[in-house]
Amino acid sequence: MNCFIHNSAPAIGICKHCQKGLCSQCATDTGAGLACIGSCVDVVNSINSLVDRNMQISSKQKSGGYLGSAFLGGLGAVFLLFGLSGVENASLPISMGIGFLIFAVVLAARTFAWPKFEKMATPTADPNSTETSPVNPKNR
Ligand SMILES: [Zn+2]
Ligand SMILES: [Zn+2]
Repeated sequence: MNCFIHNSAPAIGICKHCQKGLCSQCATDTGAGLACIGSCVDVVNSINSLVDRNMQISSKQKSGGYLGSAFLGGLGAVFLLFGLSGVENASLPISMGIGFLIFAVVLAARTFAWPKFEKMATPTADPNSTETSPVNPKNR
């Protein structure tokens, strides 16, 4: 593939916005992909900043998950301490406290392993696609 402006120059990459081949004269590195000098740089930069913002939002959600698990853990501890403080019918607050603690652990583990869950969820979204695939890699 050659540059879409300089037909004789080999392309070093593809513009992230317009998908055209770019030689070293026409391409500029935005930090997260190549873009046409002048025409597409601004667009690609705004796309990159959008992606950065999404990443910041997801990391905020992650810290929110830790906050929630800490809150649930504290609640569970309060119920447990209340149940262990010698009240009558202590089994109810104790079991509720244990339940809250389990929720806290599950939430913390899910928040900690969230990127893995996302990676695992993508290929399993369509379980039939691998079975009906005509290409069998073992035959080659
Ligand atoms: Zn472009
Ligand atoms: Zn060029």
